[in-house]
Amino acid sequence: MGRLTTRAETRQVICGGVAIGGGAPVAIQSMTNTFTEDAAATAAQARALYDAGADIVRIAVPSMEAARAIPEIRARLEAGGGRDDAGAQCGALDFDASQDLRRVRRGATERLAAASQSSASASLSETPCSASRLRRSTRSPGSDSQGTDRRTALVADIHFDYKLAIAAIEAGADKVRINPGNIGGAERVKAVVDAAGAAGVPIRIGVNGGSLEDDLKGLHDVGRPAEALAESALRNIDLVRGMGFDALVVSIKSSDVMVNTEAHKLLAAATDVPLHIGITEAGYGSAGLAKSAVGIGALLAMGIGDTIRVSLTGDPVQEVAAARDILRAVNLLPGGITLVSCPTCGRCRVDLAALCEEVSAALAEAERGRIRAAAPITVALMGCAVNGPGEASGADFGVACGADGGVFFEKGARGESVPLDKIVETILAALEK
Ligand code: SF4
Repeated sequence: MGRLTTRAETRQVICGGVAIGGGAPVAIQSMTNTFTEDAAATAAQARALYDAGADIVRIAVPSMEAARAIPEIRARLEAGGGRDDAGAQCGALDFDASQDLRRVRRGATERLAAASQSSASASLSETPCSASRLRRSTRSPGSDSQGTDRRTALVADIHFDYKLAIAAIEAGADKVRINPGNIGGAERVKAVVDAAGAAGVPIRIGVNGGSLEDDLKGLHDVGRPAEALAESALRNIDLVRGMGFDALVVSIKSSDVMVNTEAHKLLAAATDVPLHIGITEAGYGSAGLAKSAVGIGALLAMGIGDTIRVSLTGDPVQEVAAARDILRAVNLLPGGITLVSCPTCGRCRVDLAALCEEVSAALAEAERGRIRAAAPITVALMGCAVNGPGEASGADFGVACGADGGVFFEKGARGESVPLDKIVETILAALEK
C-alpha cells in the first residue's frame, strides 16, 4: 500500500484540544446547519458529527443570540450532547452571558493546559504498535477515563460583524473563523485578535473570491484567480501576524477544483500556517462527493492540508463520512480500514453488494475502536475464483467468493473455505488477532 510520507511542514495550533498542523493527523471538520440559537438542536447535531468521526465542529454565529447559545451548546455536549439527555442539566444552568464570560475567561488557561497535555499524549499514541495492529484503545481520541466521547471542539463562524467574533470568543468558542476582508478594517481585526489572544484560542482566516482586496479583484478578473486568492491570504496572514498573533489557520476555498488546487500550491509554498482545505459549495449528491474527493484528495496527495471540510448540501453527517473516506483513500486516516471490492461481472455467483454493505458496516465499527495511529489495513471482497484469489491475497485480509461461500486469505496466505454467513465474523476475528 502506498504511503504518504511527505507532508508540508506547518506550525501547530490547538483548537479545543485538537491539534491542527505540525504533523498531527489531518483533522476532520464539519458544520452544523441548525439554527445556532437553538442550542439543543445544535448540540444534538454537533454530537452526531463527533460520533460520525468529526474532530471539530463549526457553528454559524450570525447574531448575538447565537453567540450567547455557545455556553449552553457546550454544556449539552459535555453532558452527552443530546437534545434530551442534557436538557435537565442544562435547564439547571444559568446561561446569563456575563456569568459565562467570567467562567470562560477562567477556563481559557485550563483549556490551553489541557490542549498541550492532549498534544503530548497524542504523540505518545502515535508510536506504531506492530504486535497488535487492531488492539482497541482503552481511551479513544476525545474520550474521558470511562471511554465516553467528550469531544467538544467548537468553532464559531463569523461574517461581517467583529463584535460577534468577540462575543463568540468570550462565550467559549475554541476557534473563530473570520474573513478580514469583510470584517471592516484592520482596527476591527485587531479587536478580534486581542480577544482571541486573551482567551488563548486560534483564529482561522477564511479568504474567498467574493471579498478580495480591490487590486486583487483585478488579478482575479484577468484570469489569475489562484494568485489572487493566495496573495490575499498571505496579506491577511501578515496583517494578523503583524499584530503579534500567530495562532492561525488559513483557508482559501474555491468551488473550481483547478483554481483551488493551484491556489493552495502557491500558498503552501509561501507560508507555514496550517491549512484548512476543501472545495467550497461542492454541490449535492455524487457530483459534490466526486468534486470534493478530487479537490481535497489531490491536495492531500501533494502533502497539503492540515484539516479538511467536505462541503455538501444536506445532512452534514454525510460530510464526515466523505471526509473519512477521502482520508482513507490517501492513507491518511489513522487506523483506517480500506474495503476493496470488485465491480462483479457475469462470473459472480453471490450478492457481493449486500455482502460489502454488511462488511463495510462492521469495519466502520471496528475502525472507530482502533488506535488512531495504527497502520492502515486493507480488506478485499472479490466476487469469484477467477481474479478473486489474486486480489484477495494481495490485501491484508480477503475473501474470494464462490456460490456458497469464499476462500479466506490472510497476509497473502490461502486459508480455509468460509460459508457465506460466516464471512463477516471471520474477517472481524482476523482483525482482532
Ligand atoms: S473478481 Fe471475478 S466476479 Fe469480480 S469482476 Fe473480476 S472476474 Fe468478475
